[in-house]
Amino acid sequence: MLNDHDQDLLLHCRRLGHEVTFGYCRRETFGKPCRLILDCWWEQFDVRAFLQAHLSEADMAQVERASAAGPPSKLLSLVEMIQQAKDALKHKP
Ligand code: SF4
Repeated sequence: MLNDHDQDLLLHCRRLGHEVTFGYCRRETFGKPCRLILDCWWEQFDVRAFLQAHLSEADMAQVERASAAGPPSKLLSLVEMIQQAKDALKHKP
């Protein structure tokens, strides 16, 4: 099932600086996986095979593209986080 690993814990998220669950990482970008999910979770379980089994082809392709691109600079990451916060506020009822 899609939520089989949702309670698995990673002790240090490189973006947030604290522990996170796989469930968070799986939905981090407005319900879609964080762009770093393959890189962060490969040591815990076969995250690529898991996502391939549960995501649409388009969503999996996005994960693979993001993974191939590598981690963004800290500045870009900060800009993206600010944009995500702005977008989240826009969608708040
Ligand atoms: S996948 Fe993203 S949200 Fe999850 S631990 Fe890695 S950087 Fe943090």
